[in-house]
Amino acid sequence: MAPVSLIDAGRLWTRLMALAEIGATAAGGVNRQALSDGEIAAWRRVIAWAQEAGLTAATDSAGNLFLTLAGRDRVAPPVLVGSHLDSQPTGGKFDGAAGVMAALEAVVSLAERNETPVRDVIVVAWMNEKGSRFAPGMMGSEAFAGGRGIEVIRAVQDASGTSVGEALDRLHAAFPELPRKPLGFAAAAYLELHIEQGQLLEAADRVIGVVTGIQGKKTFQVVVKGDEGHAGTLPQPERRDAVAAFARMAAALHAEVGTIDAEIKFTVGRVTVEPNAPSVVPARVTFSIDLRHPDNVVLDAAGARVAALCHRHAPPCAVTVTPLVDAPSNDFDSRLRERIARAVHDQSLPAMAILSAAGHDARHLAKVCPAAMIFIPCRDGASHVEHEWAEPEHVAAGASVLARAAPASRRPPSAA
Ligand SMILES: [Zn+2]
Repeated sequence: MAPVSLIDAGRLWTRLMALAEIGATAAGGVNRQALSDGEIAAWRRVIAWAQEAGLTAATDSAGNLFLTLAGRDRVAPPVLVGSHLDSQPTGGKFDGAAGVMAALEAVVSLAERNETPVRDVIVVAWMNEKGSRFAPGMMGSEAFAGGRGIEVIRAVQDASGTSVGEALDRLHAAFPELPRKPLGFAAAAYLELHIEQGQLLEAADRVIGVVTGIQGKKTFQVVVKGDEGHAGTLPQPERRDAVAAFARMAAALHAEVGTIDAEIKFTVGRVTVEPNAPSVVPARVTFSIDLRHPDNVVLDAAGARVAALCHRHAPPCAVTVTPLVDAPSNDFDSRLRERIARAVHDQSLPAMAILSAAGHDARHLAKVCPAAMIFIPCRDGASHVEHEWAEPEHVAAGASVLARAAPASRRPPSAA
C-alpha cells in the first residue's frame, strides 16, 4: 500500500478513539443517540479540535453542525464533507464518527499546510442520522435538502415524550455562541466517508469502495384489525383473529415478495400484538415492512404487491397498509466518483465500485448538489453493534482519499 498522504493518520485515529469515549458502553461500543448529552459532549470536543485549526463553527435550525475552513472565494457555494456523530443505543465507534473525523482531519490538514481552498470547505455532522431515538433517521440532512419541513421534524417525539423541537432547543442552548446558517444553504458538492456495513470489500480484499449509489427502499406500516375474545369459549369460525391474519400475510409476503430475485431484501422487523395476552384472541397487530432493491422498476413492482397481498389474506380481519418511506435508488455524481477513483489510483489503493445497501445522509444531499461516498471495510461487515471495528490503516486510507478527492482542495488528483 502506498504511504498515506495529506493527513495525519495517527492524529485521526487518536481523535476517533477519544470521540468513542463519549457515550462509551461497557462492551466497547457507543451509545450516543441523537441530541443526547453524549452528542452535545461530542460536539464540544469536535468543535474544539476544529477551532484549534482556525475553523469556525455554526449550526442551523435542524441541529446540523458546520465547521468551516474559509476559502479564497467566500461567496461561492461551499464543499461539504462529513457524516454523523449520533449512534445506535448499542452502536459502534465508526458508524458516522469515522466520516466526520476523516473529514475534519482532511480539512484541518489542509489548514495546517496553509493552503487556502478555492472555496469554503465545511465539515458537517448531520442531526439524527440513526433514527433510533427519533424516527425516522436522516432528519438533519433531509431538512437541509428540503425534504420535510422543520416544524414536522420538531413535532416528532421519542419514547419518553420529548420532542425533537425540545431536544433541538436544548442543543442550541448548550452552544449559545454558535451562529445559525440558513437551513439548506447552497452547496457545491458533498462527499461522505463511511464504513461499508457489509462484507463486499473484505471479501474482495479491497480497501476503498467507490460508491456508485444507494439502493432504493420502501417501508410500510400495516395494521390488522380483528376482534378480541375469550380463548376458551369463542368458536373458531366466529373469530376475527388478528395474529392468524398476520401469519397468513407474513407467509405470503415472504413467499411472493421476498423471493422476487436474488437482490430483493424483505424484512418484517417489528410486530406489535394487542392485547398480547395468552388467553385472549388477538384484536390488533401492527407490523413494519422494510423492502429494498437496487433496481427501481423491481422495487416499485414489489412495493405494489405488498398492499395487494395484505388485502388478499386479511379477511375476516380488516387491514390498512400505510406507505412510510419511498426512496428510489440513486446514482452518485459521475464526476465526483471519477475524482475518488483517481485519488484511489494516485495512492495505489485496492478499490472497487460498490452499491450501498444501507441508507446514508448522502442520499438526501444528492438531491440538492453533486454527491458521492467513499466506503472503507469494517470487520465481518458488522455494524450497528458494539464490536463494530475498522482497521486504523483503512480509516487513514479512506481519509486520505477524501482529502484528495474533495473538489475544494488546491491539490486535486493528478489528472484533474
Ligand atoms: Zn452511518
